[in-house]
Parts: sequence; C-alpha cells; structure tokens
Amino acid sequence: MQTILNVAKVFVRPGNQKNQLIRQIASLNALPETHQMLQKTCRDFANAELVPQAAKHDREHSYPEKQINKMGALGLMGITIPEELGGAGLDYLAYSIAMEEISRGCASAGVIMSVNNSLYLGPLYAFGTQNQKETWITPYTNGEKIGCFALSEPGNGSDAGAASTTAIEKNDRYVLNGTKMWITNGFEAGAAIVFATTNKSLKHKGISAFIVPKGLNGFTVGKKEDKLGIRASSTCQLIFEDCEIPKENMLGQPGYGFKIAMQTLDAGRIGIASQSLGIAQASLELATDYAQKRNSFGKPISKFQIIQQKLADMAVSVESARLLTWRASWLKDNKYIYTKEAAMAKLAASEAATFCAHQCIQVLGGMGYVSDMAAERYYRDARITEIYEGTSEIQRLVIAGQVLKELAVN
Ligand SMILES: Cc1cc2nc3c(=O)[nH]c(=O)nc-3n(C[C@H](O)[C@H](O)[C@H](O)COP(=O)(O)OP(=O)(O)OC[C@H]3O[C@@H](n4cnc5c(N)ncnc54)[C@H](O)[C@@H]3O)c2cc1C
Repeated sequence: MQTILNVAKVFVRPGNQKNQLIRQIASLNALPETHQMLQKTCRDFANAELVPQAAKHDREHSYPEKQINKMGALGLMGITIPEELGGAGLDYLAYSIAMEEISRGCASAGVIMSVNNSLYLGPLYAFGTQNQKETWITPYTNGEKIGCFALSEPGNGSDAGAASTTAIEKNDRYVLNGTKMWITNGFEAGAAIVFATTNKSLKHKGISAFIVPKGLNGFTVGKKEDKLGIRASSTCQLIFEDCEIPKENMLGQPGYGFKIAMQTLDAGRIGIASQSLGIAQASLELATDYAQKRNSFGKPISKFQIIQQKLADMAVSVESARLLTWRASWLKDNKYIYTKEAAMAKLAASEAATFCAHQCIQVLGGMGYVSDMAAERYYRDARITEIYEGTSEIQRLVIAGQVLKELAVN
C-alpha cells in the first residue's frame, strides 16, 4: 500500500522528466517511507556537496572536513546511536541506505562515516559503561570529532587474533606498547579503540579493548599512507611506546577484546557492503548515461547489444548485492544472528563494486581511463572494499564455516 501510494505521488507530480520518473520508481524498492525520505535527503546532499568536491579531495589527498561537518549536522555520523547520546536513533537499514548514498557521491566520505559509525561508536555503544558512553560517544556524533578502530598490525591483518601489541597492568593503569597499521581516520581521530594483548599465552582470549584518546604521552601517529583509492580518508600507523592509560578506559571485560572486534566487524561489514553499493551504483549510472550520449557507427553505443549486456550484468550485480545487504541489516535490526549474511553482503557488494567500476571504464572507452571522468576514481576506490574489514577470502571462509555448520552431516 505504502509503495503504491508513493508510486502514485511520483506519477502525478507535474513537470517530471521521463528518465527522472523511471529513476524514482526504481529507487522506491518498497522501503518504508522514513527510509525513502532518508535516501532522498542523502542523495540530494551527496549530489550537492560531495559529487562536486570528490575529485579534488581525491587528487589532493585532503580530508573533506567541511563535508564531514555537514554530514554530522545531518545526523549521519552517529546514525544508530540513540538521540539521548547525540545520535539520530535510526536503525541499521537506515545506516545502510545512508552509507550507500554518501558513498555514491564520495567513497572516501563513505569510509570516514563507516569507521566512525560502525567501528568506533558501534563497540562503544554495545560494550561501554554509561560513563564511557557519555564521554566517548556524544562528542563523536556531530562530525566535529571522529574516532577510529585499531586492530590490524604490521605482522597480522587477517589473523587478527595474533595481536602483538601489549597492555601490561601497572597499578591503576595499563601500559601500551606496539604498532597498529592501516588505521582509517587515524590522522584526524580524537580517540581510538585499540586492541592489545593483556595475556599472550591465552592467544586471542588474552586480547582486550581499550579507549585511547590522542594526546597521551607515548601515543604518536605515523605517516599517512599513499593509497590507490579512497585517498581523501587517512590511513596511518598508530604507535604506542610506554603509553599509560587509565584502567577505566578498558572497553568490556579483560580478555573480551577479540569477541568485541569480531562482533564489531560483523556490523562493520554491512557498512562496507553499503559503501560498495554506492560505488557500484555510481558506476552503473555513469556508464548508462554515457552509453546513451556517445555515438559510434552512427548511433548511441547503448543501441549495441554488447553494451546493453554490460549494463544488464552491472544492474543485476548491484541489485542482488543490495538485497543481501538490506537482508543483513534487517536481521541485525531484528536481533537475529547475521554473521554469515553480513559476510555474504560484503563479499557480493565488494565484488559488484569492482565489477561495475571495471565495466564502467570499458563502456566509457578512453574517457574511462582519464581523470576528467569519475570512472577511474570509482575503479580505484572499489578495490579496497575487497580487502578491508576482512578480505574476500576471509568472507568466503566465514560463509563456508557457517554453511558447514548448518548442513553438517551428523
Ligand atoms: C586502506 C586501508 C584501510 C584499513 N583500515 C583499517 C582500520 O581502520 N582498522 C584496522 O584495524 N585495519 C584496517 N585495515 C587493515 C585491513 O583490514 C587488512 O589489510 C586486511 O584485513 C588484510 O590483512 P593484511 O593486509 O595483513 O593481509 P594478509 O592477512 O597478510 O593477507 C594477504 C592475503 O592472504 C590471504 N589470506 C590470509 N589468510 C588467509 C586464510 N586463512 N585463507 C585464505 N587466504 C588468506 C588474504 O585474503 C590476502 O589475499 C585497512 C587496510 C587498508 C589497506
């Protein structure tokens, strides 16, 4: 009923261009009205504020501070955090939809938003004490301050349980020593969730999580990595040398760090799936637009079936990944276990992003290969989605592990 009413509204709206109408109908997708409104708000914001600036920030490797502040003002930096803590109080489906639209405009802004929402605020909200929530969540919901999540190290990425950063108890403090690597938002972040081992002999069960603010003695930020894509977001080492942190900055129980990290990454994968959808959708839109305008052999290349096949395959990959992503969000919102579904969503959406960005360049021909058009940036931005928050190989291991449990013979 909801959908029919909204389709009707679109049809009676005066002055609609034909293609705009088709796009609006296609985007309804039977979402609840609140989510449709959010989708439109984020799309309008991305078109007005992110699309025009994305290439410049990418070229200059500059943090899109103005845009992130505006995203904070819109409520996008703490979407699922309750209003009393400064968030927007929306559900994970809303987060997924907003993340796709923001990433469609600028994938760097998308990952900055994703890390703040799912990897920093997420574990604080799920595992923090009331005092920790008030201190470390509320100032990080309006875009002025952002947080980061420091799990990976130079010696271990996929094997996150092998953390070698140590946290040794000393009176009323923990003393951190070690180096974290590849930390998104590391340069700008006001605070980090850091994973360190309090008892190495217990392996992953000896890992604990800590809230570590910038500015503490013994906490320095290494150089910003020079990356292939998402270049407007920073990626840095965080270095801890006898860095003393108060005991009350431990997040959750001692030894719960690995569990916190894995639970956080389940949710984070929905965020990266949504970022991937944004890149895939942007690639599909650009390829479709270009194909209708570019003439070859006396007609638009969109008339050639081999180009149509590319557009069809791109559309199927985006839509199927979107359904998987929304399903994972729905399962999370309704308190079901969603580890397998989040891994499936991330795997399918990240592969859709790299596939669509690749095809987009092919449809644009030479124009796809130069920075005058966004296609080459989409291609570079897409690549990381198959690596961070668990590589595609690791997603397949997670999915296969669950399938083997579900379909176990005896
Ligand atoms: C731009 C960027 C941003 C990042 N942001 C963050 C962040 O904010 N916080 C953070 O903690 N980390 C972050 N990371 C780290 C990221 O999560 C890791 O790079 C990723 O998990 C892979 O780890 P690795 O690079 O050590 O690769 P490795 O683990 O060394 O893997 C190398 C290859 O081996 C494969 N492989 C490894 N183990 C297996 C296995 N068991 N079975 C099959 N194949 C396997 C991998 O899939 C990969 O193809 C970021 C990385 C990048 C590049």
